[in-house]
Amino acid sequence: MLYGEEKIEKSVEDYLKRENIKIPEKNLNSILLELKAWLKPSVKDSGVVKTERGDYTLIHPDYGEPYHSLTAGAIGECMEKFLLPSGLLEMAKTYRKIRILDIGFGLGYNTAIAIKKLKDVNPALEIEILSFEKRLPDEAPPLPDEYEGLRKRIWDKLPYFKEEGVCFKLHLGDARDTIRKVPSFSAHAVFHDAFSPYRNPELWSFHFLSQVKRLMDEEGVWVSYSSALPVRKALSELGFKLFSTSGVGRKRGGTVACLKVKNELEEVDKLKLEASPYAIPFLDPSVDREPIEIIVDYRIRVELLKISQGF
Ligand code: SAM
Repeated sequence: MLYGEEKIEKSVEDYLKRENIKIPEKNLNSILLELKAWLKPSVKDSGVVKTERGDYTLIHPDYGEPYHSLTAGAIGECMEKFLLPSGLLEMAKTYRKIRILDIGFGLGYNTAIAIKKLKDVNPALEIEILSFEKRLPDEAPPLPDEYEGLRKRIWDKLPYFKEEGVCFKLHLGDARDTIRKVPSFSAHAVFHDAFSPYRNPELWSFHFLSQVKRLMDEEGVWVSYSSALPVRKALSELGFKLFSTSGVGRKRGGTVACLKVKNELEEVDKLKLEASPYAIPFLDPSVDREPIEIIVDYRIRVELLKISQGF
């Protein structure tokens, strides 16, 4: 979520008072400066926008962020940041059934593109998708014809869609609540596609990611466009091996996390994960903290680490 400067200042002040933490003025200024930069819109546009690759996406008014990368394009991001690195297209050649956990259904692009591409590889494949979404937009811009028919059929049947070996179910509401109600799933792939970690921290915390891990197959693959240090650190503390995906569109590459090693991928630079004070997880122990509380707590802990390391 986006927050105004006054709300950020008040949240930091309240946190420091509550925790009885005293820090020098220059450190306090550095905390406020960074939080204010993180919690403002990343783009000036609103509504439907055309990406640099010629397809369309939407800007979410509460996050000031596009649902898809404006440089990689909507389809480019779905393919290059999610479907290809997940290895699902390879699995589809030999598996009878594939299960996908889709965090952040959004406009339904990842879902529709994954189903279409997997069925192209193996028409007999059974696909089960469990999806989480807090709030759907009133409408979504159309995908190119190749995918739009399927996306629209799913959209019109929400929250439940069944067709030719495909079983899709959407859980509407805060994913932190709904995920706890899912007893088991054994996902072969997780598409973790929340908004950026600083603006949408509740879906990137150590505690939420541990719920995601619970619903994964032991050979499952977690994929995301994000390479943020707090996210990678949380995954690493949860026992995942981390790999980088190539940097299409957004400047940095994304992340693939698996419980079993995948040799064909490039391992993440561990040095930064060990050395940077920013490489600490977001914490949300009771999985119901206000997003601003999560991010303020994180940024203050970073500053305390910096002070203790003599920065
Ligand atoms: N995967 C989508 C697609 O292909 O169209 C795009 C997802 S968009 C980047 C992130 C989505 O996460 C938004 O639709 C947003 O509403 C959803 N979201 C954010 N916070 C959430 C929460 N706490 N619980 C469930 N969904 C959430």
